Amino acid sequence: MTAFNAVTPHIIDQLTRIVGADNISTASAERELRAVDESHHAPHAPDVIVWARTAEHVSATLKLANDARIPVTAWGVGTGLEGNAIAQFGGIMLSLEKMTRITEVHADDFQVTVEPGIGHKDLNAELARYGLFFAPDPGANATIGGMLANNAAGIRTVKYGASKDNVLKMQVALADGRLINVGSRSIKQSSGYDLLHLIVGSEGTLGIITSATLKLVPVPMYQSAVVAAFPSVEAAIETVVAVRGSGLEPAALEFIDAEHCALLQAAENVGLTPHPTLFMEFHSASDAGLQEGLVIVREICEEMGASSIHATTDNTERQKLWRARHHSLEILKRAYPQKKFCVMDVSVPISQYPALIDYVEQIKAENDVFLTLIGHAGDGNVHVEFGYETPEQFELALACDRLIVQRAIALGGTATGEHGVGLGKAEFMPLEHGEALDVMRAIKRTLDPNGILNPGKIFP
Ligand SMILES: Cc1cc2nc3c(=O)[nH]c(=O)nc-3n(C[C@H](O)[C@H](O)[C@H](O)COP(=O)(O)OP(=O)(O)OC[C@H]3O[C@@H](n4cnc5c(N)ncnc54)[C@H](O)[C@@H]3O)c2cc1C
Repeated sequence: MTAFNAVTPHIIDQLTRIVGADNISTASAERELRAVDESHHAPHAPDVIVWARTAEHVSATLKLANDARIPVTAWGVGTGLEGNAIAQFGGIMLSLEKMTRITEVHADDFQVTVEPGIGHKDLNAELARYGLFFAPDPGANATIGGMLANNAAGIRTVKYGASKDNVLKMQVALADGRLINVGSRSIKQSSGYDLLHLIVGSEGTLGIITSATLKLVPVPMYQSAVVAAFPSVEAAIETVVAVRGSGLEPAALEFIDAEHCALLQAAENVGLTPHPTLFMEFHSASDAGLQEGLVIVREICEEMGASSIHATTDNTERQKLWRARHHSLEILKRAYPQKKFCVMDVSVPISQYPALIDYVEQIKAENDVFLTLIGHAGDGNVHVEFGYETPEQFELALACDRLIVQRAIALGGTATGEHGVGLGKAEFMPLEHGEALDVMRAIKRTLDPNGILNPGKIFP
C-alpha cells in the first residue's frame, strides 16, 4: 500500500471547490460523530468530512484523493457493526447522507432507482403507495449504499434474499474517479463478468456506489406472525430445521434466547415468556393459503415439543412483535447500562445450525462470559452478543468469539453472514478463503492501485 499524504489546506480548498462550502467540514464535532459506527471497535476520526450531493461530486473527490494519495472512506449512516466505516487511516470521510433522492420508480418492472444515501425504511415508506417494497431489512434505518456495500441481509432473507439478490444495476465511482455502470435492468443477465456482485459486499474498498436500481416485491396481501416457545434451545433449533424442511416458505424465522425474551417482554409487553423462542412470519396471496400454512407450522411446533404457540394475523400485533425484535439490541443495552456490547455474526448451512448453537451454548457454560443469542435462524445465521465491563472480560469475549468463528468455518459456514468483514473479521479471511484471498488482493490492486479506498478493511 502506498504511504498516504496528509489533508492540507490546499486539499481542503480543492475539495471546497468541488462540493461547495456547505458540504465540507473539519469541525471536530462532525468528525467525532463519524469516528466510529455502531461497533465496539476503537474510534478513529477522519480529517475532513465531505458530503457529496451528486455522482460528479463523488467522482471528482475520488480523482483528487487518488492523485494526492489520500484515503477515502464512504459513510452511509454508520450503523455497521464491524467497524466497516471507520476511517482507520484518517483522510476524507465521503458521506452519502445527502444523496437521498428516488430517481425513478419503474413500477411496472417492480424496480426503483435511488441515490445511495436513502434509508431503506424511508424508501419503503415512499414505495407503499405503489404497493411495493424493497425486502432486505437490517432493522436499523441503514442506507441503500451501506446495505449494498456490506451485503446486509436481516430478517427477511430467508424468503427474499440478501441485498445482493435484490439489486440489478449500479453506478459506481472508481478510485481514479471514473464513473461506470455495472449490471442492467434486465432480470436475466449473462453479459460479461459480474462486476455488480463484485462491488456488492466490497465495503467501499473497490468503488463508491452513486446510484442503484433495486428489485422490489409486491406488499403481501396476507401476513401472519407466529411465536413459539420451547423448553430447550435444542428443541427450538431443531424446529428451525424442520420448518425449513417442510416446504413452507417463512418470510422470517428468528431465534431469540430466553434471556432476550425476558428483556423484550419487560420492555415491550409482547406476550413472551422467558424461554428459547422462534418468531416466524408468513406471507401469502390468499387468506386460505396463509391459514393452511399456519396449520402445518402449528403441527411442526407441537411435534417438536413447543410449550406455547401463538399465531396472529392482526397487523398491529405483528408490527409490535417485530418492533420489539428490531429494538432487541437497544433493549439489551438499556437493561445492562454498565456493560458495553460487541455483536458477532456467523452463518452456517442450515443442517449445521444445531451444531453451531450447541457449540455456543458449550462456550457459555465453560466460560465466565456474559452472552446472549439472537439470530436469523432460517438462514443459519446467529448473532452472539457479548457484554463486558473490564478489559479482561473484553479479551475473554474476543477469545470466545474467535472460537465460534473458527467452528462456523469448520462447519462449512462463514465468518460473517451479513455484517461484513470490516476490522473485526479480517483475521479470519485466510482461514475462510485460502488462496482465493490472493485473488481478492489482486482485484483490489487492479481497481485501487494506490489503496485509497477504505484502507485497513477486509485484508488482514
Ligand atoms: C441495531 C442494529 C441492528 C442491525 N441488524 C442488522 C441485520 O439484521 N442485518 C444486517 O445485515 N445488518 C444489521 N445491522 C448492521 C447495519 O445496519 C448494516 O451493516 C448496514 O448495511 C450499514 O449501513 P449504513 O448505511 O449504516 O452504512 P455504514 O455503516 O455507514 O457503512 C457500511 C460500509 O459501507 C460503506 N459504504 C457506505 N456507503 C457506501 C456507498 N455508497 N458506496 C460504497 N460503500 C459505501 C462504508 O465505507 C462501510 O464500509 C444492524 C445494525 C444495528 C445498529
